[in-house]
Amino acid sequence: MYDYDAIVIGAGLGGLSSAAILQKNGFRTLVCENTGQVGGCCSSMDVQGYRFDIGASIVEMSFVIDELFAKLGKRTSDYIDFMPIDPIYGFVTEDGEKFSYPVDVNGTREVIARFSEEDARNWDRFVKVGSEAINKAFGQVMAKPMYTLKDMMKVAMTSPALVKYLPYMIKNFEMVLTSFFKDEKVRSSMSLQSYFLGLPPALCPGYVVFLAYSEHEGIFYPRGGMIGIPQGIARAFEDFGGEIRFNTRVRKVLTEGKRVTGVELADGTKLTSRIVVSDINARTLYLDLIGRENIPSWAAKAMETFPVSIPAPMIMLGLDTEPDLPGHHTFCYTNLKEMNRIWFEDYLNGRIPSGGFMLISWPSHADPSMAPEGHHCLNLVTFAPYKLAEGDWDSIKERYLEDTLDMMERYFHLNLRDHITVARVNTPYDLERQLLHPCGAVYGLQNDFFSTAMFRPRMRSRVFQGLYLAGASVHLGGGVPTTVGSGVCVGGLVEEDFG
Ligand SMILES: Cc1cc2nc3c(=O)[nH]c(=O)nc-3n(C[C@H](O)[C@H](O)[C@H](O)COP(=O)(O)OP(=O)(O)OC[C@H]3O[C@@H](n4cnc5c(N)ncnc54)[C@H](O)[C@@H]3O)c2cc1C
Repeated sequence: MYDYDAIVIGAGLGGLSSAAILQKNGFRTLVCENTGQVGGCCSSMDVQGYRFDIGASIVEMSFVIDELFAKLGKRTSDYIDFMPIDPIYGFVTEDGEKFSYPVDVNGTREVIARFSEEDARNWDRFVKVGSEAINKAFGQVMAKPMYTLKDMMKVAMTSPALVKYLPYMIKNFEMVLTSFFKDEKVRSSMSLQSYFLGLPPALCPGYVVFLAYSEHEGIFYPRGGMIGIPQGIARAFEDFGGEIRFNTRVRKVLTEGKRVTGVELADGTKLTSRIVVSDINARTLYLDLIGRENIPSWAAKAMETFPVSIPAPMIMLGLDTEPDLPGHHTFCYTNLKEMNRIWFEDYLNGRIPSGGFMLISWPSHADPSMAPEGHHCLNLVTFAPYKLAEGDWDSIKERYLEDTLDMMERYFHLNLRDHITVARVNTPYDLERQLLHPCGAVYGLQNDFFSTAMFRPRMRSRVFQGLYLAGASVHLGGGVPTTVGSGVCVGGLVEEDFG
């Protein structure tokens, strides 16, 4: 007799989504979460009356969340209160120019036409191709595994358009983007999406370009902060009788021969189960929680070849005024060439760039309850190396805040300093300590061509029977829809194997 049918390590989106499906399908499921709340990188924290999101700031392709709730026989709207966000982004350039892309594709066309008539026509073509690529090809595989030839054949049968769009998986982001658009400003405004995978345009897989279209099908923010999404999924899980233990760290996955038998907690308690689902970094799972000595050498070598993704330090600001920003999301951005240079010359050499780009999200614009009356909260996010050439993140924390505020003034003419009532810096070290993400990695493992989809660690372990992986390290990588999709996939795989 086992203590549980299934134990899920981590209450991130992938873990909770798989847990909800397992519990609904009759598997007695326990979720063990190291922190005191659900959501991991998609959660929020309260500081002096402000609520700051810890990671994700927006959801697109929310149809994957609807697909999860449909599988649970429930409606998303009964669990999560999504608000549509419009415009999608405002932009501030280094020369002080400001503009926005609205959700309406024709509205965005008008903005593009101000820069280039030719690219306005190219936008029409991009919308047509992007719509088909998202709705008939890539969107179809969000909640379907795609690792083996059999998986691929199955997917190709149900989504033949995927075959047509495969070249976009082989080309890089920059090649695809520049094949559509000619104007430097238009190109730059759509190159930011590559960093949504934590990679520069020159390294990011080409299909990611179509996010610049999919956002026009709607982007959403949950009332009460991003934590509203995992809280909604957790409530559905608990409605089916599922159990979550907070402040419960798993330190070992227990195995016997070629199958898993449960987990050992940090306090030494052993809990048995015939199924273990991991929602943590796949390297940590195999190399530390199971242990290098307990897996075949090919598996250890394979895991070591996966670089972890780049971290994203975040500055959280409480303000006593309304900021002069266009809406929920503002990108302070630079050109395409510079975005590649920042990666190859700064990040890879341990340097934090002095200019460049930054995403500012303004949650209290959509939901005033996120800040005290008359006040607002902002999150400033960019990427930066984990290992610094000079100093370390603990010692430069204050300087990082000051340098970033200087940069916002110098490059982007945004003076926030005079109105700050609360300032917090969440460095890569903090994320590592809080969520146990190795090197503060935001998207689990790096998401380049050689570590995406079929090249990523598998959701159904090839090493141990009963072991499944969800979350940012597997499937299509980091992101709200992709990690929810990974949980849906794991639910299906367990049903195939044990149902
Ligand atoms: C700064 C930032 C901005 C982002 N912006 C966006 C965005 O705007 N839109 C978008 O779609 N995506 C965004 N993402 C990505 C998205 O938030 C993540 O990819 C997704 O939430 C990760 O889900 P996950 O299932 O991998 O779990 P995670 O969020 O990684 O959660 C894993 C959980 O496991 C717990 N845990 C770890 N080790 C153990 C252990 N040993 N025992 C028990 N529990 C453990 C952790 O505490 C954590 O709660 C962003 C991410 C970051 C960091």
